[in-house]
Amino acid sequence: MQMHPHDSLTTHFRINALQSKALLRLGVVTVEDLLLHLPVRYEDISSIQSVGGLIHGHDAVVFGKIGGLKTRKAWKSKVPIAEGWIEDGSARIKIMWFHQPYLAKMLTNDMYVKLAGKVAGSEGKLYIANPEVEKLESLPIDRHDSIFNNTEKLDETLYPVYRETKGVTSKWFFHTVQKCFERGVLDVLEDPIPHEILARYNLPTLRTALLWIHTPKKAEHAKSARKRFAFEEVFYIQVVKARERNATQQTTSYRFNTDTKHIASFTERFPFPLTTAQKKALDTIMHDLAGAYPMSRLLEGDVGSGKTAVAATTAYAVATSRPPQAHTKEVGTALSFGNLQVAYMAPTEILAKQHFESFIEYFKHLPLNIGLITGSGCMKFPSKSNPTKPTKISKAQLLKWVHNGEIPILIGTHALMYKSVVFKHLALTIIDEQHRFGTKQRKALAKKDTRLPHLLSMTATPIPRTLALTIYGDLDITLLDEMPKGRKPVITTTVTKDTQEKMYEHVRSELTAGRQAYVICPRIDEPDPEKETALNVKSVTEEAKRLKANVFTKWRIAILHSKMKPLEKEKIMQEFYNHEIDVLVATSVVEVGVNVPNATNIIIEGAERFGLAQLHQLRGRVIRGTYQPYCFIVSDSKSEKTRDRLKALITAKNGFELAEHDLMFRGSGELYGGKQSGLTDLGMEAIKNIKLVEAARTEAKALVAQDATLARYPHIHAKITHIAEHLHME
Ligand code: ADP
Ligand code: MG
Repeated sequence: MQMHPHDSLTTHFRINALQSKALLRLGVVTVEDLLLHLPVRYEDISSIQSVGGLIHGHDAVVFGKIGGLKTRKAWKSKVPIAEGWIEDGSARIKIMWFHQPYLAKMLTNDMYVKLAGKVAGSEGKLYIANPEVEKLESLPIDRHDSIFNNTEKLDETLYPVYRETKGVTSKWFFHTVQKCFERGVLDVLEDPIPHEILARYNLPTLRTALLWIHTPKKAEHAKSARKRFAFEEVFYIQVVKARERNATQQTTSYRFNTDTKHIASFTERFPFPLTTAQKKALDTIMHDLAGAYPMSRLLEGDVGSGKTAVAATTAYAVATSRPPQAHTKEVGTALSFGNLQVAYMAPTEILAKQHFESFIEYFKHLPLNIGLITGSGCMKFPSKSNPTKPTKISKAQLLKWVHNGEIPILIGTHALMYKSVVFKHLALTIIDEQHRFGTKQRKALAKKDTRLPHLLSMTATPIPRTLALTIYGDLDITLLDEMPKGRKPVITTTVTKDTQEKMYEHVRSELTAGRQAYVICPRIDEPDPEKETALNVKSVTEEAKRLKANVFTKWRIAILHSKMKPLEKEKIMQEFYNHEIDVLVATSVVEVGVNVPNATNIIIEGAERFGLAQLHQLRGRVIRGTYQPYCFIVSDSKSEKTRDRLKALITAKNGFELAEHDLMFRGSGELYGGKQSGLTDLGMEAIKNIKLVEAARTEAKALVAQDATLARYPHIHAKITHIAEHLHME
């Protein structure tokens, strides 16, 4: 029967229930899925010894199946002896344990093992004496494998090792893939990537790449094949992003008063001069707002780089502009509130409130209403009775004023996305630290409005350029890579056990002076001693107890971690903010978005467990105030490499530098965005290669420019449909 890539594996192979479950777990259902279940590495089996080749007196390491186990007593000396044999594809050799019969009892016949010991005995009567035995789930493929012995075709002895799971072994994958090849599946496979593109970058075709990746004759071939699949993955994401960008550019948006004088009248009132980076960002944004299609911009800047000032100025340009005439007439000119509207979404309630407060500061001199909507209630500024203060209002009232345009600026949490929130003329959406805000969400906010609101997305998460280009491929990126002048840089110190007492002394003096502190731990609870061994990592719960008992005895200590309920977390944060708590012991949940200016000290325990970019973000928690901030990077790691890596925190100029450092030296798995972005390990590997990412981006853009519907590329269309779904999951 002809094998087709879309056939279910069960059509061609006998698959038992256990295997079927295991395959499902790995996402392998069809023949194509199997072919794309790529090896995770290759094993060089040239060093594996064959049982048939063992020589007296040598140290042997062999892989094989155990058999013939029995115990007896030596007939003269009465020494207890256990014996059996091990066989691989080439031969069988006896194993003997003297004085250790219990060892054999731990083994059973037909068990796969790795066995190491000295070859003893005499010619023709060789045996391995008192070997060490390691149980294996399956045998590595080797050239003595009796099931598969046409290995002459391999120049080098590279065998693929596949990710396995209970029920299917790496070896099963190997053999099943080979059978698919034998049945000619490669002849009916169609390569989704156009040949011209592959040729331009010297990438193998799908057929060649599959052969090379599953049965490489040279390490180079395997590498080349991996590169092709990595390119393919990034390419599809880039196609999704390019189409999204394309769709955005098909819609219209509102135009604004971005006149330089008008903008300056707002920014001149700030109690500080704008940084050059802020000015540049605003110029670019104003240029976008005056353009033909909706802005899609990501503003990336370290904590404290002044993103809110940029957001407020953008909001000002929008909220002081009027919708086009025709539109106003439709709705009726009786209402004078016809300004364009801004929605500003924050990830947490505390942050939404903080933005609301900063916006009040920025806008209090203007006759503009500002609203706040969160799960726990609504507010409006100014209050009718006191024009300098905000006031609580009902949700119904707020929604009415948003709907009739009387509230031009609405700040909130996800509550902004409720169906009941309907704007009159939503022209700008500002998003803080929300990584999955695509066109869909934008349209949802705008409801039935045919115009798409401009989007200003903001993030303090430093990510490498290649990753940004990929996961934010539909956005234009602006960096705020400069800190406001006069900001006291965080004094960062690396600390070990020997110097920790000095650190505690310092923090105590800070607490006495009225400051607050964070202590970050890698874990929430102590590890279960039954399950994990030798884990010497500090946990939030234990460390809080220890600090209370021995270190910060006089101070109010509380804990915060991700297993707590959202309301509980908000409550603790609020108390810390109100200075009802002095020391907050937390996991990295405080990483994003809490602003407590009085907290000027941060101790990070087990620092070697975090990426540099993440450490940098944690450190960002303490640079808000006017006091000198301190960061203590605690690590007892003996590794010099680790120490050096952590020192980069003292020398690096900004978060981007550290993110690049993480990418190069720590492996992409550590990077932020790995899981969220939907990239596989291979895709994350691709992110290390700027040329590859740029090539995928260029080709994707070109392809979408000439055929946005992908009518001519049905295979690409099919591939990206499920990727797009994945990327837009909320
Ligand atoms: P971000 O959101 O990027 O972390 P914010 O916008 O909250 O940073 O700004 C942090 C603090 O810096 C705020 O108190 C803000 O008033 C102040 N700030 C913003 N821009 C400047 C500037 N150019 N010079 C001095 N202070 C600034
Ligand atoms: Mg901010």
